[in-house]
Amino acid sequence: MAEESAPQARREAEAKAFFDKIISPFIDDTLESRQLQPRMVQLIKDNIKKKETPLHPLPSKHLLTPVATVEEIIDAIRKAKSDKKVLRVAGSKHSVPDAIFPKDGVTLWLTKELTKIEMQKETTEDGKKWLYCRVGAGCYLGNNPMDRQSDIEDSVCYQVALKGYGFPELGGIIHQCVGGFMMTGSAGGSLKHSFADVIQEIEFVDGNGCRLTAKHGTDLWRAVGVSMGLFGVITHVTFRLPQMKYVEGSESNHEFADSMLGPDMTGNSKLKESLEKNEYMRVNWFPQKEVMRVQEWVGKQTTVGEEVPYNSILSSIFMAGMAALSMAISNCILQQAELTETDYDIIGACLRPFVPLWAKPVNFRDTWYETLPMDDKAHTDSIIRVDFTEIWIPSTNVKPLWIGSSSCSRIRGPPTTLPLRSMAPRSPHSG
Ligand SMILES: Cc1cc2nc3c(=O)[nH]c(=O)nc-3n(C[C@H](O)[C@H](O)[C@H](O)COP(=O)(O)OP(=O)(O)OC[C@H]3O[C@@H](n4cnc5c(N)ncnc54)[C@H](O)[C@@H]3O)c2cc1C
Repeated sequence: MAEESAPQARREAEAKAFFDKIISPFIDDTLESRQLQPRMVQLIKDNIKKKETPLHPLPSKHLLTPVATVEEIIDAIRKAKSDKKVLRVAGSKHSVPDAIFPKDGVTLWLTKELTKIEMQKETTEDGKKWLYCRVGAGCYLGNNPMDRQSDIEDSVCYQVALKGYGFPELGGIIHQCVGGFMMTGSAGGSLKHSFADVIQEIEFVDGNGCRLTAKHGTDLWRAVGVSMGLFGVITHVTFRLPQMKYVEGSESNHEFADSMLGPDMTGNSKLKESLEKNEYMRVNWFPQKEVMRVQEWVGKQTTVGEEVPYNSILSSIFMAGMAALSMAISNCILQQAELTETDYDIIGACLRPFVPLWAKPVNFRDTWYETLPMDDKAHTDSIIRVDFTEIWIPSTNVKPLWIGSSSCSRIRGPPTTLPLRSMAPRSPHSG
């Protein structure tokens, strides 16, 4: 009994704190409607500040050990081994702190030579042009807004795009380091393209301090590629990149039944068929009782046409703040043991504005690294802070996917498995 009441009491305390701090002042101000927007702006600023001073502060940069060369990594590994300490590497630190900062261990921070991009050669193979480049594992894929020194022009996506080449697949953001992205097997929404396809060689230093290279297609390459750092420290990655210019497509909202997730004539989900039909695809599913809508994003590579920038609705600070607030309110309501029809109505009213059915499809055609990471500008590091749960499901088993879920989910599809991702507002207790 006591075990049950403790989490319940904590949930109630959290809900009360949330209402006292966020909702009550907001409602009070609605009497003077012109106060509404300044209040919202203030809430958003507070939220950003909160991120800068987390409740449970992470070890700050001075607890990271900077390393600038492979030789320094070798020394650090040998020292950690003789001191019997666990050694890890920090990428852009999106993972839970325990995956990056071992207790009483060492966390390396890759700098200088280990963030460089070396263009090696342009070749023609099988009638196609390719760019070979060797990239330091500490190099960011794009701009990392949480690192003041990060600049899109130093990123690998920007640099290879300048030469007319690209990564055929990226995740929803490009704030990550090459090493962190690969070690966690990160992926985007495509059955046709995979990040792994363009990795030629992985250079790493193993636990004995030996520098090794895993070549494309070998067992070592497969094992090291998604090892969460357990094979050692990834130092450089060599890519063979295809020519790429734009990704064009559209974003549109649908009732669940009419969407790419909904049932086909035989009653099975259309998800697998939709993934097979589209070069790139992402669905944002809002399965709440009074929403039941799906936002669909589809795209394909092209080299022709005028640029039409992709602007996510959440790239506006105001809309991102509204989304964060709506998710927080919905989450707060869902903490109750018994939900009433009014509760479902409120949740529906909070979330439906983000997937309006009246809105026309939004078309885009932009540089591949501006469109493929569709959440890149969505303020996910500061305003809409969410916890992810990822479940990977073989694409042959997608049928049960559309049965029963109560949170806001995203589904993406790498080659043979599909991640079902459930997002919830970040709780004060999480990293
Ligand atoms: C808003 C948001 C959207 C996201 N969208 C997607 C998505 O669409 N698809 C997807 O798959 N994922 C997605 N992710 C997850 C993200 O890609 C992963 O968390 C990724 O690991 C982050 O990279 P990082 O540089 O932050 O790595 P970190 O979190 O810093 O590190 C990850 C792990 O790798 C280890 N590591 C890092 N660098 C090295 C190295 N050089 N050598 C050895 N080990 C190393 C670390 O010690 C740690 O254990 C998303 C995350 C966020 C916050």
